[in-house]
Amino acid sequence: CGIVGYIGEQNASSILVDGLTKLEYRGYDSAGLALMEKSGIEIERSVGKLINLKNQIAQKHFTAVLGIGHTRWATHGKPSFENAHPHRSNELTVVHNGIIENYLELKQFLLSKGYGFTSETDTEVVAHLIHENYEGDLLKSVQKTLKQVHGSYGLAIISEKEPDKIIIARKDSPLVIGVGEGEMFAASDIPAVLAHTRKFIFMDDGDVACLTKDGYQIYDKNDIPVTREMRTIDWNP
Ligand code: GLU
Repeated sequence: CGIVGYIGEQNASSILVDGLTKLEYRGYDSAGLALMEKSGIEIERSVGKLINLKNQIAQKHFTAVLGIGHTRWATHGKPSFENAHPHRSNELTVVHNGIIENYLELKQFLLSKGYGFTSETDTEVVAHLIHENYEGDLLKSVQKTLKQVHGSYGLAIISEKEPDKIIIARKDSPLVIGVGEGEMFAASDIPAVLAHTRKFIFMDDGDVACLTKDGYQIYDKNDIPVTREMRTIDWNP
């Protein structure tokens, strides 16, 4: 339902939780974050209102400057802790809006490859499939995976193997890039990060992008590097 991503120099957990709070009006049943801590990715999830996640995080001392967050509106699998995003496959973690239509078929394939599933979601197959396709380049494995996936998605992916980037993608589901100075944002809706930047890039359907703290590169559905227009937002939510 809601996605926020951050990469920069500020504390990611508070920017992500604030961003998700701005998206609360859209409704959700659970929420979660994945944070790139020095020791690896830490996942925090909770069912119900964001205040639960906030309280959970307040007791920890996260220092990550990169992370992704999600509010879930269940489509596949009941609202529950296990089904809340982010979903992990080994060293990588995924948040997803939308519906993966061929997830059962992909799940059979991944089970045959030995992957274990901890949720009932369609999203978890995306995490395992990106892992299965990984050959040393996260962007490439996401691009390959999206050619095997049918359905709608806004996606954000981070990996301990490439801890200085966020890969995002969209098809039939909104996702924008927020451009800052030495920091970059991703969001399923502008208000999530409007407190931090006014410069936005609207990705086309089928686009995949790699965000680093100093920049971004967008690729179209044929993996060709493209530029998309930047717009300055002058309204307030
Ligand atoms: N289909 C996914 C799920 O049920 C994502 C739902 C959403 O868009 O929040 O977990």
